[in-house]
Amino acid sequence: MAAYLDHAASTPVRPEAVEAMLPFLAGQVGNPSGAHRAARCARRAIDEARDAVATLVGCEPTEVVFTSGGTEADNAAVAGIVGTRPGATLVSAVEHHAVLEPAVARGATTLPVDGRGRVDGAGLDVALAAVDQVALASVMLANNEVGTVQPLADVARAVRAHTAGAVIHTDAVQAAAWLDLPVLAAEADLVSLSAHKLGGPAGVGALVVRRATPLAPLLRGGGQELGRRAGTPNVAGIVGFGAAATQLAAERPRLVATTRARRDRLAAGLLATLPDVRLTVLGGGTDDVLPGHLHVCLPGVEAEVLLFLLDAAGISASAASSCASGAAEPSHVLAAMGIGHALAAGSLRLSLGWSTTDAEVDEALTVVPAAVARARGDLGATGRGAAPGASDVSTSTGEAGADVPVTT
Ligand code: PLP
Repeated sequence: MAAYLDHAASTPVRPEAVEAMLPFLAGQVGNPSGAHRAARCARRAIDEARDAVATLVGCEPTEVVFTSGGTEADNAAVAGIVGTRPGATLVSAVEHHAVLEPAVARGATTLPVDGRGRVDGAGLDVALAAVDQVALASVMLANNEVGTVQPLADVARAVRAHTAGAVIHTDAVQAAAWLDLPVLAAEADLVSLSAHKLGGPAGVGALVVRRATPLAPLLRGGGQELGRRAGTPNVAGIVGFGAAATQLAAERPRLVATTRARRDRLAAGLLATLPDVRLTVLGGGTDDVLPGHLHVCLPGVEAEVLLFLLDAAGISASAASSCASGAAEPSHVLAAMGIGHALAAGSLRLSLGWSTTDAEVDEALTVVPAAVARARGDLGATGRGAAPGASDVSTSTGEAGADVPVTT
């Protein structure tokens, strides 16, 4: 039996989204910018999806700018603000690379986080004291690797107390499937979303641009999306995004409860069979982790070897490491949280979602301990990083479609 426990990387597309998309994939043509009936039909379908996404976020439909995904939304947020107004750029050290890279390339300051990956209040104060003005502060609503939810409202309050007009961006790509965005993302002027993290198709997302925040468009040349994002829209993808958002809104309370219960059962079962497993952020009496995320560190395990063994046994999972240099590097997220290289090298992310079943959890509870035992045995026999099959694993996880696996 197989178990897909990599929802944080990409969710299966919900049947409601597939059904909604099908007419626009086969049969129905029409560029929504056109003047004829087919164009009007495409335009109407996009407007309905825009309404659904706006409801999910708690914003006006006109504030939703469709993009090609979360990466574009993050890049558009950074490029659209930084350099267009005076002031510094602050980003948390645990942002997704889609925020970190464009921001750091433009001279951003990174904000330290605590051991759970939450922006450190004292570190934020130090960063604010060092600058005259803030142009943009970007802090994700929930982290993709470990699932920690950020104190976004506190960060926004502190930043605005320093610079009243600072733009606040939040990457809500992971959070959107689970959290009440109308409440928790309310302070953000810019909000990034991605359809394939919530039961829609890959290759479509949105940047919510609230309160008429002036944003220089990243893509120019067509005037679409009220001049904020040029390019013919992906009608089928947007329709699938809208259908997934509608379905999610209807199901969320039940989905959150059942998923959290399954995740907690998985965590307890792994703790019982693998006593030295380290829950990276769960526990400690706090409830600031997304319900689908279970991130653990396994001492003495090479993550790539473990992923290879899990994959061979039918379990899809991720590790928070990349091996751009050939040797596994701990993720920037774990490093920022102060988790040492040796422990971080044995990281494993199991992420549950809308399609996860009890049977998949049972399967993981059987397969993961056995695979961990084998990974430890293999390491003993072959040495770190030299285990057979490790290089196959690097490409088999290819979440970003690149040769180098990254945790998405
Ligand atoms: N931001 C976060 C937090 C993510 O987890 C991802 C996923 O990879 C992205 C941004 C990028 O989204 P997309 O895959 O739609 O480009």
